[in-house]
Amino acid sequence: MRAMLPIALLGLALMLGAYFGPRLLARLRLFFSYPAYGTSALCPHCARPLPGPESHVCPACFLPISGFAATDPILRVLATGALYRQASHRLVGAGLAGFIAFAAATLAIVLSLWLEGERIASFQMLVLGSPWFIVLFKGLAARRRPVSGA
Ligand SMILES: [Zn+2]
Repeated sequence: MRAMLPIALLGLALMLGAYFGPRLLARLRLFFSYPAYGTSALCPHCARPLPGPESHVCPACFLPISGFAATDPILRVLATGALYRQASHRLVGAGLAGFIAFAAATLAIVLSLWLEGERIASFQMLVLGSPWFIVLFKGLAARRRPVSGA
């Protein structure tokens, strides 16, 4: 009886291996493999998977990914807009100084027109220069918030 024990243990191990083996191998393969996004390219800005390696613009964050996005005549408009959005998202340093200068210049022109008696031209200049004020106030408000992802 004692001589049969190794053979019985080997048989038991083979049966357990045959029953749990494929599932165990699948779990081990899944554990040691890449995550679900596998070998697809990731956006360098938001780290989300891209629909294809030939993508020029990330569909999630709308930021340019390839050099083609900066040189193509149509995509260059999008890349330039993304640059300004990123620059005005959180104003610091030279960007903040630039927007303060644009807003101050607009305000100076509005005041000079108002003092000369050109009320309608002053109001028109205020409306034309309002994007500088909007971006400046949004940028200054964003300085108080904590830094987010992208
Ligand atoms: Zn992205």
